Amino acid sequence: MIIAIDGPAASGKGTLAKRLAAHYGFHCLDTGLLYRAVALSLLEAGQAPSERDRAEAAARTLDLSRFPESALKAPKVSEAASIVSAIPEVRTALLAYQKDFVARLPGAVLDGRDIGTVIAPQAEVKIFVTANPEVRARRRFLEMQQSGGKLSEAEVLADIRRRDERDSSRGVAPLKIAPDAHLLDTTAMDADAVLRAAIAIVENAK
Ligand code: C5P
Repeated sequence: MIIAIDGPAASGKGTLAKRLAAHYGFHCLDTGLLYRAVALSLLEAGQAPSERDRAEAAARTLDLSRFPESALKAPKVSEAASIVSAIPEVRTALLAYQKDFVARLPGAVLDGRDIGTVIAPQAEVKIFVTANPEVRARRRFLEMQQSGGKLSEAEVLADIRRRDERDSSRGVAPLKIAPDAHLLDTTAMDADAVLRAAIAIVENAK
């Protein structure tokens, strides 16, 4: 079974994907980490994330295991990831890895922006997770504070809005809800309630 989870920045889709995968014993891939790793390799080499050829080369030779997740989650990497992810050649270079992952048995949960629309349009379950931007910013701000983050809540909100806008308006694989996806608005839900709602959707699709 393939479970595709998409949604905007800080919507809680990563947490949901991990918990769903643990519940069903499925493999889990946070596809945002791929774009983040491409972005970080450019930043480390002193190159701009908008440099197409360099970004494509970094995507083609990507070794995800080289980067600790904590480094990939840094705010400057989020912004750079959103820039590299709008480069069509970068997306193409990362396609095969994601398509192979989708085929893993006994099942795979992938989260990102284009899983239900591009990577796995055949997924048996598609969930589009969202929440209003202020609530997403609040959750991300509290999470970042725990790991010593320095950004204010207003800065986190501005970052989220900027990335949402860029991710939704790009020409290739923009963030959008697949016609057959279930919309899960988590504005007034906690993580346990989100998991319960998602399990109900999966069980219904079996
Ligand atoms: O999901 P996360 O916030 O970690 O993703 C970082 C950036 O990577 C996003 O802002 C988006 O630009 C890009 N991304 C994407 N397609 C995906 C996953 C992430 O374009 N499937």
